[in-house]
Amino acid sequence: MSILICGGAGYIGSHVVLELIKKNYDIVVIDNLSNGHKEFLQKDARFYEGDIRDEKLVEKIIHDEKIDSVVHFAAFSLVGESMINPAKYYDNNVLATFSLLNSLRKNNVKKIIFSSTAAVYGEPQSIPITEDNPVNPINPYGETKITIEKMLHWFDKAYGIKYVALRYFNVAGADESGQIGEAHNPETHLIPIILKAVRDNKTIKIFGNDYPTPDGTCIRDYIHVTDLAAAHILALEKLSDQSKIYNLGNNKGLSVMEIVKAAEIVTGKKINYEIAPRRVGDPAILIASSEKIKNELGWQPKFCTPEKIISSAWNWHKNH
Ligand code: UDP
Repeated sequence: MSILICGGAGYIGSHVVLELIKKNYDIVVIDNLSNGHKEFLQKDARFYEGDIRDEKLVEKIIHDEKIDSVVHFAAFSLVGESMINPAKYYDNNVLATFSLLNSLRKNNVKKIIFSSTAAVYGEPQSIPITEDNPVNPINPYGETKITIEKMLHWFDKAYGIKYVALRYFNVAGADESGQIGEAHNPETHLIPIILKAVRDNKTIKIFGNDYPTPDGTCIRDYIHVTDLAAAHILALEKLSDQSKIYNLGNNKGLSVMEIVKAAEIVTGKKINYEIAPRRVGDPAILIASSEKIKNELGWQPKFCTPEKIISSAWNWHKNH
């Protein structure tokens, strides 16, 4: 039996594919390459270029490749873009996942790991954020992800499709081999923006220094993509008859300014920055509690420090 990775040529998907292959799983990737990179594909994973909305193709893959579980990354994930063009997000995230789930339902595939996000919480009621914090997204991106989580809930109740929804906090870093890394176009994420600025001798913008935090800049919880990938494998291996939702972060908040300082140490270069207005839709502080996945699945992150996360990203960025 094989595992189908939807969006397996993207940043997080390709890291999960790599870890699964290291563990000798039989892997099939479907990706429409709208955001994915052909060069991130592994030779040991069979690749289908196509869209998860193409029911004929998905059903053919399920049969030909004997798929018994799915890990689903295929989505758009830019908060700002989702505010300007929510239709694009409902179409590509909600409708495409609905189509995928229908294909699974009709073809008796009963296991799915879904990449969700901390954006489902909106402004959290308390820090660190546990999974029972009320969900209240403040942007269409988060809204599409919680809509899909709810769809999964009802597809479980009615059709017995079991799922794990993983709510990611700020994912960064790269595999230690240096062969794959974070490359979005346009890039909006802090750590790759800083590293590209160092590489190309540019100035970054810090969005707001008047937040209610010790240095005035936003606080986030950064998690290494390889630790995140390991959580997907645990979720796949331990998913039984009970669907689950888990947060994934490091239980540690770092301000934008602290990330800038850590990047200066890692790269040995001064980072030029200017203070810009706040970015719409940015909560001041997001820190995860990941106790639930640690307690229930035995997940243990290995690359917790900002230095480890940033140096692995730098290892990739300086060569690309
Ligand atoms: N940020 C920034 N300058 C940038 C990109 C991001 O100051 O060029 C800040 C952003 O406002 C947020 C933090 O860095 O407080 C992390 O943003 P990112 O887009 O990496 O992740 P998000 O928290 O939005 O998922």
